[in-house]
Amino acid sequence: MLAMTYRGPYKIRLDHKPMPDIEHPNDAIIRVTRAAICGSDVHIFHGLVPDTRVGSTFGHEFTGVVEAVGSSVQNLKVGDHVLVPFNIACGACFYCTKQLFGNCDNTNPNSTVGSGIYGYSHTTGGYDGGQAEYVRVPFADVGPMKIPPDFNLEDALLLTDVVPTGYQAAEMGEIKEGDTVVVFGAGPVGIMAARSAWLFGAGRVIVVDYLEYRLEFVKNYAKCEVVNFREHKDIVQYLKRMTDDLGPDVCIDAVGCEAKGLKWQEISGIKMKMQAGSATAIMWAIDSVRKNGVVSIVGVYGPPFNTVPIGTALNKGLTLRMNQANVKRYLPHLIEHVRAGNLDPKAIITHRVPLEGVVDAYHMFDNKEDDCIKCILIPPS
Ligand code: NAD
Ligand code: ZN
Repeated sequence: MLAMTYRGPYKIRLDHKPMPDIEHPNDAIIRVTRAAICGSDVHIFHGLVPDTRVGSTFGHEFTGVVEAVGSSVQNLKVGDHVLVPFNIACGACFYCTKQLFGNCDNTNPNSTVGSGIYGYSHTTGGYDGGQAEYVRVPFADVGPMKIPPDFNLEDALLLTDVVPTGYQAAEMGEIKEGDTVVVFGAGPVGIMAARSAWLFGAGRVIVVDYLEYRLEFVKNYAKCEVVNFREHKDIVQYLKRMTDDLGPDVCIDAVGCEAKGLKWQEISGIKMKMQAGSATAIMWAIDSVRKNGVVSIVGVYGPPFNTVPIGTALNKGLTLRMNQANVKRYLPHLIEHVRAGNLDPKAIITHRVPLEGVVDAYHMFDNKEDDCIKCILIPPS
């Protein structure tokens, strides 16, 4: 089958790989109908996620048709159209029973399979992902959800990650009625977080990025204010001035770590040298949010250590919340929001590319070329 494979930092290619097999009675094999490229794939493409092995296939956002099921699978049958949350979760452990699928510990005594994330290094299980013609889906009764017949396939695809992630970012912000929410990052996740913030009662939503085409999009899509941080010498002071000198009530980091070398940053009046894989957006979030405010982090930090001004956060009495999205927890709710027109996921898709074009698609998305917001891959049918 065709699959993208990782060859080393900034290097991927399209390969032929053996078809995946049922390895466990709880597995299913899915024929992929759509797969998306995510900002998280960019971190792993940059080589920032430890133990990413040559030959592995990325892709944690995909829909498909069930091709085969293991002997224990109850909820799926061959031919079902499914969307597959990016979390691989056992459904039975302490965390899964609390719907914290992103934190699955897999203590399921009947399983020899671990929890993880599709196509996201051996740090998160070493499973191949869905940027391929077929993919193996462990715990097939837990993650996959049948796509409702009235539901658009592209909307379903975006429910596997960016919609629930943006929504959870807003939820973790503990937004109170009338709060001012600043979202750092106008990528797919930030766009969804901005739109979701209104659903939690925000009174004002401001999105910060430097890519004008994305700011223009989110201004219309999420009916929010936008700020281009490159137009301001001190973005933290500018955000404070915009918010009665207090700072926003809630800041959301929808950016994550950066691969762009060493540079000097001034945070809270202190100059620090930042490492590759560093964290400008989270610094700005901690610095600009008002005292006793909340910083909600969904941006991914691949390296285990990043420089974060914890002393500033302590002195300001901040609440810091962060997690991988617990995708399945939100699906029934989000399907209703999409049906009601409160969220319009597929509107963020700017590029639809055959799987064979995956290499160029990664470079385009990484370099933010051709006004790309979200790029999806279509395997040959
Ligand atoms: P993306 O790369 O398309 O968007 C990131 C945006 O941030 C870009 O528009 C970029 O210009 C902007 N940006 C860069 N530096 C900035 C800064 N200092 N301040 C403000 N904006 C800045 O990525 P995406 O798909 O939207 O994903 C965003 C983040 O969310 C990534 O880190 C991704 O790994 C993470 N993510 C997390 C989860 C989760 O479960 N926690 C799920 C999906 C994605
Ligand atoms: Zn993703």
